[in-house]
Amino acid sequence: MLSIGRYVRAGSVREAYELVQKNRRACVLGGGAWLRLGSGTIPVAIDLAGLGLDAIEEVADDPVFGRALRLGAYVTLRRVETDQRLAAATDGLLARAVRDIVGVQFRNVATVGGSVAGRFGFSDVCCALLALGAHVELVGAGRLPLEAFLAQPGRVRDVLTHVVVPAGPVAASYQAVRNQSTDFPVLSTCAVCGEAGAWRVAVGARPGRPRLVTGGALSPQPAPAEVDAACAAAQALPFSGNMWASERYRRHVAGVLVRRAIEKAASAAAAKGESL
Ligand SMILES: Cc1cc2nc3c(=O)[nH]c(=O)nc-3n(C[C@H](O)[C@H](O)[C@H](O)COP(=O)(O)OP(=O)(O)OC[C@H]3O[C@@H](n4cnc5c(N)ncnc54)[C@H](O)[C@@H]3O)c2cc1C
Repeated sequence: MLSIGRYVRAGSVREAYELVQKNRRACVLGGGAWLRLGSGTIPVAIDLAGLGLDAIEEVADDPVFGRALRLGAYVTLRRVETDQRLAAATDGLLARAVRDIVGVQFRNVATVGGSVAGRFGFSDVCCALLALGAHVELVGAGRLPLEAFLAQPGRVRDVLTHVVVPAGPVAASYQAVRNQSTDFPVLSTCAVCGEAGAWRVAVGARPGRPRLVTGGALSPQPAPAEVDAACAAAQALPFSGNMWASERYRRHVAGVLVRRAIEKAASAAAAKGESL
Protein backbone atom coordinates (compact mmCIF):
# COMPACT_ATOMS: atom_id res chain seq x y z
CA MET A 1 0.00 0.00 0.00
CA LEU A 2 1.12 3.55 -0.70
CA SER A 3 1.44 5.99 2.21
CA ILE A 4 1.86 9.74 2.15
CA GLY A 5 4.02 11.39 4.83
CA ARG A 6 2.94 15.00 4.32
CA TYR A 7 0.24 16.29 1.99
CA VAL A 8 0.71 19.84 0.73
CA ARG A 9 -1.82 21.77 -1.30
CA ALA A 10 0.53 24.15 -3.12
CA GLY A 11 -0.40 27.83 -3.21
CA SER A 12 1.49 28.30 -6.49
CA VAL A 13 3.39 26.22 -9.04
CA ARG A 14 6.60 27.92 -7.87
CA GLU A 15 5.96 26.70 -4.31
CA ALA A 16 5.40 23.18 -5.70
CA TYR A 17 8.68 23.38 -7.62
CA GLU A 18 10.60 24.53 -4.54
CA LEU A 19 9.20 21.65 -2.49
CA VAL A 20 10.33 19.18 -5.18
CA GLN A 21 13.81 20.73 -5.26
CA LYS A 22 14.10 20.55 -1.44
CA ASN A 23 13.09 16.90 -1.18
CA ARG A 24 14.33 14.46 -3.82
CA ARG A 25 11.51 12.02 -3.07
CA ALA A 26 8.70 14.56 -3.08
CA CYS A 27 6.01 13.83 -5.66
CA VAL A 28 3.64 16.05 -7.57
CA LEU A 29 0.20 14.44 -7.63
CA GLY A 30 -1.68 14.13 -10.88
CA GLY A 31 -4.85 12.03 -10.74
CA GLY A 32 -2.91 9.50 -8.63
CA ALA A 33 -4.07 6.59 -10.82
CA TRP A 34 -0.52 5.44 -11.50
CA LEU A 35 1.04 6.54 -8.22
CA ARG A 36 -1.48 4.57 -6.19
CA LEU A 37 -0.17 1.31 -7.64
CA GLY A 38 3.13 1.88 -5.82
CA SER A 39 4.08 0.90 -2.29
CA GLY A 40 6.20 2.63 0.33
CA THR A 41 5.93 6.21 1.49
CA ILE A 42 5.91 9.44 -0.47
CA PRO A 43 7.44 11.86 2.06
CA VAL A 44 5.79 14.94 0.51
CA ALA A 45 2.83 14.73 -1.89
CA ILE A 46 2.09 18.00 -3.65
CA ASP A 47 -1.39 18.73 -4.89
CA LEU A 48 -1.77 21.37 -7.62
CA ALA A 49 -5.58 21.53 -7.33
CA GLY A 50 -7.00 25.05 -7.21
CA LEU A 51 -4.22 26.54 -9.35
CA GLY A 52 -6.33 26.76 -12.49
CA LEU A 53 -4.54 23.90 -14.23
CA ASP A 54 -7.73 22.09 -15.22
CA ALA A 55 -8.58 24.31 -18.19
CA ILE A 56 -8.07 24.11 -21.95
CA GLU A 57 -7.22 27.59 -23.17
CA GLU A 58 -7.37 28.85 -26.77
CA VAL A 59 -4.25 30.83 -27.66
CA ALA A 60 -4.27 33.09 -30.72
CA ASP A 61 -0.66 34.31 -30.57
CA ASP A 62 1.48 31.41 -29.42
CA PRO A 63 5.14 32.31 -30.14
CA VAL A 64 5.79 28.97 -31.91
CA PHE A 65 2.47 27.76 -33.28
CA GLY A 66 0.42 30.92 -33.73
CA ARG A 67 -2.93 29.34 -32.93
CA ALA A 68 -2.73 26.73 -30.20
CA LEU A 69 -4.62 24.95 -27.43
CA ARG A 70 -2.94 25.08 -24.03
CA LEU A 71 -3.92 22.20 -21.78
CA GLY A 72 -3.40 22.54 -18.03
CA ALA A 73 -1.68 19.61 -16.30
CA TYR A 74 -4.90 18.73 -14.43
CA VAL A 75 -7.04 18.36 -17.56
CA THR A 76 -8.34 14.79 -17.40
CA LEU A 77 -8.02 12.27 -20.21
CA ARG A 78 -11.81 12.18 -20.44
CA ARG A 79 -11.85 15.91 -21.10
CA VAL A 80 -9.20 15.35 -23.80
CA GLU A 81 -11.48 12.75 -25.31
CA THR A 82 -14.61 14.90 -25.35
CA ASP A 83 -13.41 18.48 -25.96
CA GLN A 84 -14.71 19.65 -29.35
CA ARG A 85 -11.96 22.23 -29.89
CA LEU A 86 -9.29 19.56 -29.41
CA ALA A 87 -11.17 17.26 -31.78
CA ALA A 88 -11.28 19.97 -34.45
CA ALA A 89 -7.62 20.96 -33.99
CA THR A 90 -6.25 17.40 -34.08
CA ASP A 91 -8.61 15.70 -36.55
CA GLY A 92 -9.97 13.70 -33.60
CA LEU A 93 -6.53 12.25 -32.96
CA LEU A 94 -6.28 12.75 -29.20
CA ALA A 95 -9.78 11.36 -28.62
CA ARG A 96 -8.86 8.31 -30.67
CA ALA A 97 -5.56 7.87 -28.80
CA VAL A 98 -7.08 7.91 -25.30
CA ARG A 99 -10.34 6.05 -25.87
CA ASP A 100 -8.90 2.59 -25.08
CA ILE A 101 -7.22 3.64 -21.85
CA VAL A 102 -8.95 1.45 -19.25
CA GLY A 103 -12.45 2.99 -19.05
CA VAL A 104 -14.39 6.24 -18.69
CA GLN A 105 -14.21 6.34 -14.87
CA PHE A 106 -10.44 5.91 -15.05
CA ARG A 107 -10.11 8.61 -17.72
CA ASN A 108 -12.11 10.96 -15.48
CA VAL A 109 -9.24 10.66 -12.98
CA ALA A 110 -6.00 10.32 -14.96
CA THR A 111 -4.52 13.65 -16.06
CA VAL A 112 -2.60 15.01 -19.01
CA GLY A 113 0.17 16.18 -16.65
CA GLY A 114 0.60 12.76 -15.04
CA SER A 115 0.56 11.06 -18.43
CA VAL A 116 3.22 13.32 -19.93
CA ALA A 117 5.39 13.73 -16.81
CA GLY A 118 5.26 9.96 -16.32
CA ARG A 119 6.90 9.55 -19.77
CA PHE A 120 5.61 5.99 -19.89
CA GLY A 121 6.84 4.06 -22.91
CA PHE A 122 3.34 2.65 -23.44
CA SER A 123 1.72 6.08 -23.34
CA ASP A 124 -0.89 6.54 -26.05
CA VAL A 125 -1.10 10.17 -24.93
CA CYS A 126 2.63 10.86 -25.45
CA CYS A 127 2.68 9.05 -28.81
CA ALA A 128 -0.17 11.19 -30.18
CA LEU A 129 1.16 14.45 -28.70
CA LEU A 130 4.61 13.71 -30.14
CA ALA A 131 3.22 13.28 -33.64
CA LEU A 132 1.26 16.52 -33.21
CA GLY A 133 4.50 18.36 -32.35
CA ALA A 134 3.25 19.45 -28.90
CA HIS A 135 5.38 21.41 -26.45
CA VAL A 136 5.51 21.12 -22.66
CA GLU A 137 5.78 23.94 -20.13
CA LEU A 138 7.70 23.19 -16.94
CA VAL A 139 8.54 25.23 -13.89
CA GLY A 140 12.29 24.69 -14.00
CA ALA A 141 13.26 23.83 -17.58
CA GLY A 142 10.74 26.22 -19.16
CA ARG A 143 9.05 25.42 -22.46
CA LEU A 144 10.45 22.71 -24.71
CA PRO A 145 9.27 20.37 -27.46
CA LEU A 146 7.80 17.12 -26.11
CA GLU A 147 10.38 15.31 -28.22
CA ALA A 148 13.21 16.90 -26.17
CA PHE A 149 11.39 16.26 -22.89
CA LEU A 150 10.92 12.57 -23.75
CA ALA A 151 14.61 12.28 -24.65
CA GLN A 152 15.78 13.58 -21.25
CA PRO A 153 17.25 10.89 -19.00
CA GLY A 154 16.49 10.47 -15.29
CA ARG A 155 13.52 11.37 -13.14
CA VAL A 156 11.41 14.47 -13.78
CA ARG A 157 12.19 17.00 -11.04
CA ASP A 158 10.31 19.91 -12.60
CA VAL A 159 6.63 20.72 -12.30
CA LEU A 160 4.76 20.29 -15.54
CA THR A 161 2.10 22.98 -15.82
CA HIS A 162 0.86 22.86 -19.43
CA VAL A 163 0.98 20.99 -22.71
CA VAL A 164 0.68 23.21 -25.80
CA VAL A 165 -0.87 21.64 -28.90
CA PRO A 166 -0.77 23.42 -32.28
CA ALA A 167 -4.35 24.14 -33.38
CA GLY A 168 -4.19 22.37 -36.75
CA PRO A 169 -5.38 22.02 -39.36
CA VAL A 170 -4.09 18.46 -39.65
CA ALA A 171 -5.12 15.11 -41.04
CA ALA A 172 -4.19 12.32 -38.67
CA SER A 173 -4.48 8.64 -37.93
CA TYR A 174 -3.75 6.68 -34.74
CA GLN A 175 -3.19 2.95 -34.95
CA ALA A 176 -2.46 0.70 -31.99
CA VAL A 177 -2.52 -3.00 -31.22
CA ARG A 178 -3.61 -4.36 -27.84
CA ASN A 179 -3.76 -7.99 -26.77
CA GLN A 180 -7.07 -7.13 -25.11
CA SER A 181 -9.19 -4.04 -25.61
CA THR A 182 -8.28 -2.08 -22.46
CA ASP A 183 -4.80 -3.50 -21.91
CA PHE A 184 -1.60 -1.48 -22.47
CA PRO A 185 -0.78 -1.15 -26.18
CA VAL A 186 1.67 -3.69 -27.58
CA LEU A 187 2.58 -1.09 -30.18
CA SER A 188 1.20 2.31 -31.13
CA THR A 189 1.75 4.50 -34.16
CA CYS A 190 0.52 7.86 -35.22
CA ALA A 191 0.80 9.79 -38.49
CA VAL A 192 -0.02 13.49 -38.77
CA CYS A 193 -0.05 15.44 -42.02
CA GLY A 194 0.02 19.15 -41.25
CA GLU A 195 -0.04 22.39 -43.15
CA ALA A 196 2.01 22.42 -46.37
CA GLY A 197 2.00 18.61 -46.28
CA ALA A 198 4.55 18.34 -43.44
CA TRP A 199 4.40 14.86 -41.89
CA ARG A 200 5.23 13.67 -38.39
CA VAL A 201 5.09 9.94 -37.68
CA ALA A 202 5.59 8.52 -34.17
CA VAL A 203 5.96 4.99 -32.81
CA GLY A 204 5.26 4.18 -29.16
CA ALA A 205 5.18 1.17 -26.85
CA ARG A 206 8.35 -0.17 -28.47
CA PRO A 207 8.14 -0.64 -25.37
CA GLY A 208 10.47 2.33 -24.83
CA ARG A 209 9.24 5.91 -24.94
CA PRO A 210 7.59 7.09 -28.15
CA ARG A 211 9.99 8.21 -30.87
CA LEU A 212 9.55 10.12 -34.11
CA VAL A 213 10.34 8.29 -37.32
CA THR A 214 13.01 10.28 -39.08
CA GLY A 215 14.57 10.02 -42.52
CA GLY A 216 12.79 9.83 -45.84
CA ALA A 217 10.50 12.75 -46.67
CA LEU A 218 6.80 12.11 -47.33
CA SER A 219 4.88 14.12 -49.91
CA PRO A 220 1.38 15.34 -49.01
CA GLN A 221 0.06 12.33 -50.97
CA PRO A 222 3.01 9.95 -50.53
CA ALA A 223 4.06 7.66 -53.36
CA PRO A 224 4.26 3.91 -52.51
CA ALA A 225 8.07 4.10 -52.40
CA GLU A 226 7.92 6.93 -49.85
CA VAL A 227 5.55 4.93 -47.64
CA ASP A 228 7.86 1.89 -47.93
CA ALA A 229 10.80 4.06 -46.83
CA ALA A 230 8.87 5.42 -43.82
CA CYS A 231 7.91 1.87 -42.78
CA ALA A 232 11.53 0.75 -43.10
CA ALA A 233 12.65 3.74 -40.99
CA ALA A 234 10.05 2.87 -38.34
CA GLN A 235 11.27 -0.72 -38.27
CA ALA A 236 14.84 0.51 -37.80
CA LEU A 237 13.92 2.09 -34.42
CA PRO A 238 15.05 0.19 -31.32
CA PHE A 239 12.46 -2.36 -30.12
CA SER A 240 12.56 -4.89 -27.33
CA GLY A 241 10.43 -7.66 -25.89
CA ASN A 242 8.49 -7.94 -22.62
CA MET A 243 5.51 -9.89 -21.27
CA TRP A 244 3.20 -8.24 -23.85
CA ALA A 245 5.13 -9.00 -27.06
CA SER A 246 8.52 -9.99 -28.44
CA GLU A 247 10.95 -7.60 -30.10
CA ARG A 248 10.43 -9.33 -33.46
CA TYR A 249 6.66 -9.05 -33.29
CA ARG A 250 6.80 -5.36 -32.38
CA ARG A 251 9.20 -4.58 -35.24
CA HIS A 252 6.97 -6.37 -37.70
CA VAL A 253 3.77 -4.72 -36.42
CA ALA A 254 5.44 -1.28 -36.50
CA GLY A 255 5.85 -1.59 -40.27
CA VAL A 256 2.21 -2.65 -40.73
CA LEU A 257 0.75 0.06 -38.47
CA VAL A 258 2.91 2.88 -39.79
CA ARG A 259 1.77 2.05 -43.32
CA ARG A 260 -1.86 1.98 -42.18
CA ALA A 261 -1.53 5.25 -40.26
CA ILE A 262 0.10 7.07 -43.20
CA GLU A 263 -2.43 5.74 -45.71
CA LYS A 264 -5.40 6.72 -43.54
CA ALA A 265 -3.98 10.17 -42.76
CA ALA A 266 -3.22 10.70 -46.48
CA SER A 267 -6.84 9.80 -47.37
CA ALA A 268 -8.10 12.21 -44.70
CA ALA A 269 -5.77 14.91 -46.07
CA ALA A 270 -7.09 14.32 -49.61
CA ALA A 271 -10.67 14.62 -48.34
CA LYS A 272 -9.85 17.90 -46.61
CA GLY A 273 -8.24 19.22 -49.78
CA GLU A 274 -7.58 22.96 -49.71
CA SER A 275 -8.64 23.32 -46.09
CA LEU A 276 -5.44 21.61 -44.98
C1 LIG B 1 -4.03 0.16 -14.76
C2 LIG B 1 -3.54 1.25 -15.68
C3 LIG B 1 -3.63 1.08 -17.04
C4 LIG B 1 -3.18 2.11 -17.89
N1 LIG B 1 -3.26 1.92 -19.26
C5 LIG B 1 -2.81 2.89 -20.08
C6 LIG B 1 -2.89 2.74 -21.51
O1 LIG B 1 -3.34 1.75 -22.05
N2 LIG B 1 -2.43 3.76 -22.28
C7 LIG B 1 -1.92 4.91 -21.73
O2 LIG B 1 -1.52 5.81 -22.46
N3 LIG B 1 -1.84 5.07 -20.40
C8 LIG B 1 -2.27 4.10 -19.57
N4 LIG B 1 -2.15 4.26 -18.22
C9 LIG B 1 -1.53 5.50 -17.71
C10 LIG B 1 -2.58 6.56 -17.44
O3 LIG B 1 -3.22 6.91 -18.65
C11 LIG B 1 -1.94 7.83 -16.84
O4 LIG B 1 -0.93 8.25 -17.71
C12 LIG B 1 -1.33 7.56 -15.49
O5 LIG B 1 -2.33 7.08 -14.62
C13 LIG B 1 -0.70 8.84 -14.92
O6 LIG B 1 -1.65 9.86 -14.82
P1 LIG B 1 -2.15 10.35 -13.37
O7 LIG B 1 -2.86 11.63 -13.57
O8 LIG B 1 -2.85 9.25 -12.69
O9 LIG B 1 -0.73 10.67 -12.66
P2 LIG B 1 -0.17 10.25 -11.23
O10 LIG B 1 -0.32 8.78 -10.98
O11 LIG B 1 -0.72 11.17 -10.20
O12 LIG B 1 1.38 10.63 -11.46
C14 LIG B 1 2.19 9.88 -12.36
C15 LIG B 1 3.63 10.43 -12.27
O13 LIG B 1 3.69 11.75 -12.83
C16 LIG B 1 4.13 12.70 -11.84
N5 LIG B 1 3.34 13.90 -12.06
C17 LIG B 1 2.00 13.99 -12.12
N6 LIG B 1 1.62 15.24 -12.44
C18 LIG B 1 2.77 15.96 -12.56
C19 LIG B 1 3.04 17.32 -12.88
N7 LIG B 1 2.07 18.20 -13.14
N8 LIG B 1 4.34 17.71 -12.92
C20 LIG B 1 5.33 16.84 -12.66
N9 LIG B 1 5.13 15.55 -12.36
C21 LIG B 1 3.86 15.10 -12.32
C22 LIG B 1 3.88 12.03 -10.49
O14 LIG B 1 4.73 12.54 -9.49
C23 LIG B 1 4.15 10.57 -10.84
O15 LIG B 1 5.53 10.32 -10.86
C24 LIG B 1 -2.61 3.28 -17.35
C25 LIG B 1 -2.52 3.44 -15.97
C26 LIG B 1 -2.98 2.45 -15.12
C27 LIG B 1 -2.89 2.66 -13.63
